Amino acid sequence: MTDAPFSCSCGTLKGVLHDAAPQHVCHLVCYCRDCRAFARHMGCADQLEPGGGSALVQVLPARIDITQGADSIACLRLSPKGLHRWYASCCNTPLANTVSTPRVPMAGMWRGLFDQTDVFGPVRTLGFTKHALKERGAPRRDKGLFAMLSGLIGRAVPAWISGDARRTPFFDEAGAPVTAPVVLDLKQRNTLYKN
Ligand SMILES: [Zn+2]
Ligand SMILES: [Zn+2]
Repeated sequence: MTDAPFSCSCGTLKGVLHDAAPQHVCHLVCYCRDCRAFARHMGCADQLEPGGGSALVQVLPARIDITQGADSIACLRLSPKGLHRWYASCCNTPLANTVSTPRVPMAGMWRGLFDQTDVFGPVRTLGFTKHALKERGAPRRDKGLFAMLSGLIGRAVPAWISGDARRTPFFDEAGAPVTAPVVLDLKQRNTLYKN
């Protein structure tokens, strides 16, 4: 089992991702406008990849252990139907995005949380590249979407069977978010979607 420790930028929130080897995770860069807007809102735009991509590691939430500072977990939604975007409220470090229910056991962790990223192997998937910013180093086309999808299903099915799907640091046993998400209003939203 490969463990990858992580931490928010101020060190208040710490944790460990278990099963962090490439066959258990999907190392990806997402160029969608929502991920970029979230990074901007968190003040992390400087950590985006060329083309405005968010480097993420898609994992089974049950493999995420928060070992310290769990009460700093906060949640933002860019719109009432947007993904749950979890972050550490102590220093606004993004943690992960999830859908609104633990029944779909997936979390896209913000790669900037990890000091050591070799453990994930090279980036395998590029998504939403048609929304990449037109700048030097931006990718031209998506890749690895099938690998991402098959990885998702390959992790979700055993988790549904074993009950691991219910284990997540982001939702309680009843399936409610551990902290109420704040939804951005339209004005806040508009400033984040410059392109
Ligand atoms: Zn922090
Ligand atoms: Zn995205």
